[in-house]
Amino acid sequence: MSWDRVRGHDDVRRVFAAAWRKERLGHAYLFVGPAGVGKHTFARELARALLCESRKSELDACGECAACALADAGTHPDLFLASRPEESVDLPIDLIRELIEHLGLKPARGGRKVAILDDADDLSAEAANAFLKTLEEPSPGSILILIGGATPDRQFPTVLSRCQVVTFRPLPSAAVFEHLKGQGIDDAGRLDRLVRMAGGSIGQALALNDDALWQFRATLLEAVAADPIDAFGLATKWNEFVEDAGKEAGQRRRRASVVLRLLIGMLQDAVRVSNGVPPLVADGPEATVLNRLAERVGTDRLLAWIDRAAEADVQVDRKVQLELIVEALADAVAR
Ligand SMILES: [Zn+2]
Repeated sequence: MSWDRVRGHDDVRRVFAAAWRKERLGHAYLFVGPAGVGKHTFARELARALLCESRKSELDACGECAACALADAGTHPDLFLASRPEESVDLPIDLIRELIEHLGLKPARGGRKVAILDDADDLSAEAANAFLKTLEEPSPGSILILIGGATPDRQFPTVLSRCQVVTFRPLPSAAVFEHLKGQGIDDAGRLDRLVRMAGGSIGQALALNDDALWQFRATLLEAVAADPIDAFGLATKWNEFVEDAGKEAGQRRRRASVVLRLLIGMLQDAVRVSNGVPPLVADGPEATVLNRLAERVGTDRLLAWIDRAAEADVQVDRKVQLELIVEALADAVAR
């Protein structure tokens, strides 16, 4: 069963299986849906099934032939994989030219050509334009899969109109739970917390499974609950923690984004507690602190802070300088 490594998304699989049966597979797809729900994993499995040389029923790769092994290793000559380099703001035009060239070549193993492009929301206008001819006049049998973000909103309309959009929904909690257990996470309290905070994303749950992060969450709670809030101290600790994530800009951005989601979760819990609704993440003593915070600043301001933190998350995504984002947010909260 080759699709075992894909969790959920049976609906999407059925759509592809039906298109395959009717020989009506498209040549360009845009996968959209929350980060970490398995869009890339699905694309890889689909590519493997398309390239397999001893396919079982329908779109099932055999998992044993040479083509399957090459696809698994990412070295199949007819499979092109590309993503935005860590340090780059967008997908470099040279990479897109390489991809276009790949799709225009004859299949090396006699099957078809497949390309999977991650971070497809980060196409530059120039790269998107270079794409258009490939999208309009694809070589026979070639398939291009663009992996986008949560929604198609950030994609160029010219690209969007030439792709079939496939939507991946958040995974059911049970699927996230099973996956985490499979990864060897067996602490019941932690499992429960991760699943509740994951929003149906395995990637998000795994990103949150980090002791350092939960320790920092305690620091964050203490800083936000202080009266008055020390904006400078908060920003300094926050920036240090983000820097500790690693040398790569990508690692730091990912950590900055996870911290923002922890903060948003915390503030949402404060709103809940102050309205008599049980918190989603906070436990006993934390809930008491959050309740005091809510009484002091009021729900309206808490909601404004949540908006501000969500805005900061968008800025992290748009590659605004991290220190500036954190300082501005700490200032806004302390004011
Ligand atoms: Zn095979």
